[in-house]
Amino acid sequence: MAIFLSSSVQEPAADPSSIITTANATSDVAQILYGLSIRGVRAKAVESHAKRSHTKNADRFQIVLESPTLIQRQIANESIAGIWDAILEDYQRAITRDGCCYFCQYDVASLPKPTTCPECGNNLDSYAARRAMRDGQKL
Ligand SMILES: [Zn+2]
Repeated sequence: MAIFLSSSVQEPAADPSSIITTANATSDVAQILYGLSIRGVRAKAVESHAKRSHTKNADRFQIVLESPTLIQRQIANESIAGIWDAILEDYQRAITRDGCCYFCQYDVASLPKPTTCPECGNNLDSYAARRAMRDGQKL
């Protein structure tokens, strides 16, 4: 499957409501666009204009709807968690092998799922947290 990455700096920033998710790796972008396309959602990746700050990881790409109709938006929003689940298959939870929060090392082994870490407040079952763990980043 071909992926077209728009890199024009003149392109206006995407309408926030048409942004489905963000990604850093082009392999993730490819899987997201594929996952959306098989659900009938037309989307493209554009390079993010967000400035990288020291406190937060800014993703390189925004996945935006090509035709931001209500139904396309609904399907995309309902699909995106499942698409990330497939990408993050090997990272089911942002928890270390010894049962600690990936972000702050608090012992969460005995807590029920889904788990919001009582120490740092991160939802350890969210795809954002799982992505951060896979990529060796902080949230
Ligand atoms: Zn924590």
